[in-house]
Amino acid sequence: MGERAVSLTGVYASTAEENFHVRFFVGPPGQGGKRRKEDFPRGPIHPSISPVTRSGILYLVSGPSGSGKTTLCRRLAQEGLAHYSISCTTRAPREGEVNGRDYHFLTREEFAVEIEAGAFLEHAEVHGNCYGTLISEVVDFLDRGQDVVMDIDVQGAELVRACADPVIRAALVDLFVMPATDEELEIRLRGRGTDPEDVIQLRLDNARTEITHWTGYTYLLLSTDRETDYTRFKNLLLTERMRCARLTPVSK
Ligand code: 5GP
Repeated sequence: MGERAVSLTGVYASTAEENFHVRFFVGPPGQGGKRRKEDFPRGPIHPSISPVTRSGILYLVSGPSGSGKTTLCRRLAQEGLAHYSISCTTRAPREGEVNGRDYHFLTREEFAVEIEAGAFLEHAEVHGNCYGTLISEVVDFLDRGQDVVMDIDVQGAELVRACADPVIRAALVDLFVMPATDEELEIRLRGRGTDPEDVIQLRLDNARTEITHWTGYTYLLLSTDRETDYTRFKNLLLTERMRCARLTPVSK
């Protein structure tokens, strides 16, 4: 059974940088199948413990405008747990938004040039504007074993899920954030105080359609309060980091 013959007993010190160790034993397990005390070394890292490397996760997050998904994604990035993929958009910046931090704000012509250059992993028209994910915002980070979180609409999510690239397919974890109620969604959309009435109405209309797409996702987060939402959101990423398929023992 090769590497699988060892006893996997725990995962240690997972950090944002992801140099964590999995404790396992190179020798056979205890006599007669029983584990002996000495099979469970304590204290400092035992020489038989091999480090593992982990491949990066592409944490794809959708949900209607006002579901709170952008706040969740941003917070994850602020805590150093993932790189936030900064999208390109032709939408005008809202008050307080900064080019290169919130989005790369482009004209339609500039956006078309990026499409032509093959710069996008996916792109879609959302609420009358173009949005696109740059390959460079995703692949370079995954290659380095870093997690990437992306805020993306349901059309973009479908395109990423259909992507043939094995790196993207292996990295993908997709989650739909469902607002608690229609009323809550409207309160959040209006609470921003940044969008005019016609934009709010368009986003509310689109939300009704977007919500029907949740069944295409692997995970669903039913929104309650911000802290509970964030805890569950973060825990999903941390749990996905423990998938054996993402871990490779480093040969000594
Ligand atoms: P907003 O204008 O409120 O920032 O975003 C509007 C919608 O565009 C949201 O549903 C958001 O998830 C989506 N969006 C943001 N970036 C991208 C992207 O790169 N690609 C796609 N397809 N949708 C995006």
